[in-house]
Amino acid sequence: MYVSCEEHIDLAMDIIIDEHEAAPVIEMIPAKEQLSTSCSFCEKPANYRISK
Ligand SMILES: [Zn+2]
Repeated sequence: MYVSCEEHIDLAMDIIIDEHEAAPVIEMIPAKEQLSTSCSFCEKPANYRISK
């Protein structure tokens, strides 16, 4: 599972597709949790949770 900002959502989806050969499931992270969750690929707050 990855979490990502707006910028890295495509990257996260590509990785999940590569790893699992399945379409990823994308969920919005609730606003109050975004500030305490940082993107898996950079230092920005994460907006989405991407899992298989
Ligand atoms: Zn990012």
